[in-house]
Amino acid sequence: MSELRDLYQEVILDHNKHPRNFHGVDPHSHEADGYNPLCGDRVRVELRVNDDGLIEDIGFQGDGCAISTASASIMTEVLKGKNLDEAREVFDHFHALVTEDDVEPDPMKGKVAVLAGVREFPMRVKCATLAWHTFHAALEEQGEFTAE
Ligand code: ZN
Repeated sequence: MSELRDLYQEVILDHNKHPRNFHGVDPHSHEADGYNPLCGDRVRVELRVNDDGLIEDIGFQGDGCAISTASASIMTEVLKGKNLDEAREVFDHFHALVTEDDVEPDPMKGKVAVLAGVREFPMRVKCATLAWHTFHAALEEQGEFTAE
């Protein structure tokens, strides 16, 4: 796992320094605000789903720690262009990956695999999952998500 840990730290640093898709989406079809009171991370996720059910554009805004920012950045990169079924599948895989010890990263899901590294830092799991739960809340039209 030490190779994955090095890669994890490298990717987190890169995405925190240069967040991808750090912008609002106008017009958007779905939106939600997320908050992680344990760390103070805030993230807003906006996306536009087109008539074919594809995520045409997705972006995030907000202010959070390196891990929450990097995870949001990776999420938007991975989900952009996917249809909603695929996006839910990626969400489920990601969630299992960071919360269960015996789940192997699926290389088909790209950089999501790198986020498995957060398992070594249990205190930061809520930072890493914030944007993803917020994305899920946007899809379910719940409008907001607060980590507990
Ligand atoms: Zn955080």
